[in-house]
Parts: sequence; structure tokens; C-alpha cells
Amino acid sequence: MEFRIVAETFDRLERETARTQMTMDLVNLFKQAEPRVVGKLVYLLMGKLWPDWKGLPELGMGEKLIIKSIAMATHVSESVVVDLYKKLGDLGLVAEKLKTEKKQTVSLLMFAAGGPGAGSLTVDKVYDTLARIAMATGEGSRDLKLKLLAGLLTDATPLEARFIVRFVQGRLRLGVGDATIMDALAIVYTGSASNRPLIERAYNLRADLGRIAEILATEGPEALKGIKPEVGIPIRPMLAERLSDPEEILKKTGGKAIVEYKYDGERGQIHKKGDKVWIFSRRLENITHMYPDVQEYARKHLKAEEAIVEGEIVAVDPETGELRPFQELMHRRRKYDIHRMMKEYPVNVRLFDVLYVDGEDYTTRPLTERRKKLEEIVEASEEFRPAEYIVAESPEDLEKFFLQAVSDGAEGVVVKAIHGNAVYQAGSRGWLWIKYKRDYKSEMIDTVDLVAVGAFYGRGKRGGTYGALLMAAYDPEADMFRTVCKVGTGFTDEDLAKLPEMFKEYVIDHKHPRVDSRMEADVWFVPALVAEIIGAEITLSPLHTCCLDVVKPGAGLSIRFPRFIRWRPDKGPEDATTTKEILEMYQRQLRKVEEA
Ligand code: ATP
Repeated sequence: MEFRIVAETFDRLERETARTQMTMDLVNLFKQAEPRVVGKLVYLLMGKLWPDWKGLPELGMGEKLIIKSIAMATHVSESVVVDLYKKLGDLGLVAEKLKTEKKQTVSLLMFAAGGPGAGSLTVDKVYDTLARIAMATGEGSRDLKLKLLAGLLTDATPLEARFIVRFVQGRLRLGVGDATIMDALAIVYTGSASNRPLIERAYNLRADLGRIAEILATEGPEALKGIKPEVGIPIRPMLAERLSDPEEILKKTGGKAIVEYKYDGERGQIHKKGDKVWIFSRRLENITHMYPDVQEYARKHLKAEEAIVEGEIVAVDPETGELRPFQELMHRRRKYDIHRMMKEYPVNVRLFDVLYVDGEDYTTRPLTERRKKLEEIVEASEEFRPAEYIVAESPEDLEKFFLQAVSDGAEGVVVKAIHGNAVYQAGSRGWLWIKYKRDYKSEMIDTVDLVAVGAFYGRGKRGGTYGALLMAAYDPEADMFRTVCKVGTGFTDEDLAKLPEMFKEYVIDHKHPRVDSRMEADVWFVPALVAEIIGAEITLSPLHTCCLDVVKPGAGLSIRFPRFIRWRPDKGPEDATTTKEILEMYQRQLRKVEEA
């Protein structure tokens, strides 16, 4: 497949204003591809060469090296590239412009020499060369990377050069979500978008959309049905709904439930095969290297040849062994000095699920069976053991255990259904798990996690930076982000000053096609960064599009007096609070007022 088609699709995607159009662009793209390259196409669309969890090297080319490659490929001096970069602010556009200017002369020269010249790139050639760039490490790798990229850019058309450079910079922010890709795959390879659940199920058990797409394109939909968990490949996590009334919670779970501490740490999906251990985060990054201690616990305490278990990695006080808050774990998010940090910030693991043991897929088994198996394969110790729990049959039991959890330093509890259908729902948020958190009991409302989709320029003291961000909730049914509030409070001066730099690579010149907004922001972003927000209450608002027309015609739901709490780098845009959750919070709030 010619890479030209990919570049033209990227260009179209960047200008689309409707999500349905994005899907159709992808449908057209996949239709023109040989099945063999569909996996590579999916990775390219995601701006990646492979899933993050593989822990393979990244492209590793700094701005300087990219500038050198552009200069080399377009036969200009580096200072010309730098000057143009200052003017255009985007190296992709710089490469495109220089290629356009050189096009005439270069193609004449190539024609005379009989060489391939611009326009000869294929998807294989681009992907494989980028992979070689990433894999080049150690001595001499800088030169090799430079040569490889300059070579690609020499053969690229101006438009292709724009996207190759942005890709290498990690700035190919098309904002195409997994759901859009899956819709398009379903249309092309099964005949209808209604078959997306088949693809989704496979993807949930094997979090590698490129590979899933390749299997689908080359072997057909039937092949996806046989996909099972495999050690070393992360499973997308099951997530909880939220409620704050013990009686209502128990009603939802069928009157009886397992209630576990909700530890305030980092979720870890721990895979073990013999002596080899992998740890994956909630977003399925490979975080194995951060936790040599957890690896050791798993080797020592997991009594199975092969296993996939899930638990919360919690910071503990080295002196007293008491639980410490989530923030302490941030010291462990680093590449160097891990062993020193391990001593200063020790962790324990509290396990809450088992998904696979020695050839058996446990995701389809009810929780009671999983919990039993977990206790069987874990040789419990202070460092590594199943989560604290009770089986509750009354709201009083639940409330008592909740208070105990909070006083023990947990965030609250997670209540889990134990009926026969209480399977592990990989990749989805459902009522089989319900979280009941401490802060839900606080003044007005719960905290929510919202995606920044735009910004407003600041005035006065905030001149030169953003004064407020436009925040949105996620609507998974439509795969859209709908606005809920404008937040300008809660940021420190330092937070504020950082905003333009933080968002630089996400800025686009129009509202993103997956964003639904009635407000006109000064600056629009590709939906990417998530923040935790608290507010006073949820109100009806004609300005916002979250649940527009649902409660009242012409009105949406919005958060009053929103305040920024912190960034949530462990969450992707699709992990944000959903519009449905906001509606439920609004309804609960109304009920409270009525009761009072
Ligand atoms: P939050 O922002 O509240 O941590 P989340 O969106 O990351 O939520 P949810 O599924 O909504 O995830 O809430 C459950 C989270 O709580 C899990 O992702 C996990 O990290 C953590 N957790 C702590 N203890 C438990 C437990 N016993 N069972 C399940 N999850 C637990």
C-alpha cells in the first residue's frame, strides 16, 4: 500500500469536523489496504509503533536531530530549518514547506538519475524504517537514526513529510479513539458497525488493537472468537460504578456482596510465568521496572506456574507499616535510582482478583470462584496478600466496614456482586463493582475526572497563559466528549504558567470532531489530558452539552464552582467520568434535596 494514501487520510482527519466522517475516512483507508498491513496502519493511526506495554524503545529523536534530518533531506542548512521552525512553530509544516520548494529541482534530478524519488514510499517501508529508528540504540545509533529519517524524508512527498516528522516527534495527535477505529474495522471486515462488540471483546482480553486488527483482516472475524488471556499481554481492566448510599448499593448487587477495602494506590495487573514477572498499570503501561519489590513478592508468594492477578500497589509507612496516600507512590514513577526509592517509599500489594491460572481463563468465572482461587494461589504475607473484605448482607454491615476502611487509611470500599453472573468484565465499567468513596460523603458532590477540550486566554495576572480550561465528560455511546464546565480555580500560579507548554502539542485550529460544545473556546485541543475536578453541585445549564435535552429541553448539565484538584496522568480521555455518571450524580443530588 502506498503511504501517500495514509498521508492524505491523516490530512483529511485533521480537518474533519464530524465523528461520522472520521469513521468513513478510516473505512476508506482500510478498504484500500492489503490485509497484511492493517495492523501497521492501526498503530500509525494511534501515533505509535507498538503498544506501550511492550516496553520497546521509542523513536528517541530529539528536536535537534530531526532538524538535522530535515536539512539533510531538503539540502538546506540547519539554520534555514530553525528559522522556518520559529515562524511556523511546527516541524511537520517546516518539512512540508521545504519539500514543496525543493520538489521541482529534486524530482528533475531524480528523473535524470532514474532513482525512485518522492512518492515511492509504501506503508511497509515507512513503518519498518521508523521501527529501525526506534530499535537503533547504543553507540553510533544517533548517526543511524539521522540517516534513516533523512532517507525517508528524501523519498517523501511534502504531505508525507509533514506526517512522518510529526510522528517521529510524537506529535501526531489525530485524536482518533479506539472506538472509531473499531467501528471502521467492523464495517470493513464484518459488514456492519454493529459487530464492534466482537472486536471489542478480543481487544479487552488482549490489549493490542494493531494485532487484533491484523488477525481480523487476515483471518476473519471467526478467529477473534478464540482469543484467550495470555501471560505477558495485558487485559483491559474491569471498572466500577459509583454510589454513596449503602442501601442502594446492596440493592444493585442483589442484596449480598463482597465488600473490599478500596486501597488508595496504583492498580497493578501482575503477570507471572515461572520466574518472569510483568506489571501493567491501569492504562496498561509496562511498569515492571518501577517495582522490583513487587516482582519479588510475586515470585515468592504466587503459587502457580503461570498466573495473572490484579491488585492495588499501596505505599506504606516504612516505620509503622500503615497505609500512605497515593501521592507517595509518585516517587516511584522514575527511571533511575529505583532501588533507593524502593527503600524510602516501600509498598505492599493487596490483591483483589485473578484472571488466569495455568491455562485456565478465569475472566468468565463468577467472583466467588475467583476469590477462592486467589486465596489458594497466594501465600499471604504482610507485603502481598488478598484485600481485606467481608460478605455484607445489610446496609449496616456495609457502612460499618466502610468506616473501618476509611479509618485504616483506605479511600473507601468496593462492593462486588457475587451472583452466578458476576464475571470479570474486562474493559468495561459496570454495576458488578460499585465504589463507595470517602469523598462522596463530603460537602456537596464527588470529584469527577474531566478531559480538557479547549481553553480561554487569561487576563491581568494571567495574561500570556490560559485563564480557564473547557472541560468535558465522555459519552461512550456516541464516542464524544461533551462539555460540563469551565475551570479556572484551584490552579497554583505555577500550574497556570505551565499550561500553554503542557497543551502545546494538542492545540488544533478548530473544534475537534469528537467534541460537542456550545461554547466557543479561544483555543481548541485534541481531547487528551484528564484532570480531577470538584465542584459545589451539578446544575442545569444552557451553556453546556453534557446530557443536553435529557433533563430539560435546551439545557445540559454543568458543574457549579468547579475547582481543579490535580492532573490524572494515569487516565486517558476515554477513562474520564461519563455523561451518564454526571446525570446519575445530578439525580442523586435531587433526591437528597427532596429527602431533606
Ligand atoms: P478512581 O479514580 O476512583 O481510582 P478508577 O477510574 O481508576 O477510579 P474504578 O474502577 O472506578 O477505577 O475504581 C476502582 C479502582 O480502585 C481500581 O482501578 C483500583 O485501582 C482501585 N482499587 C483499590 N482497591 C480495590 C479493590 N479492592 N477492588 C477493586 N479496585 C480497587
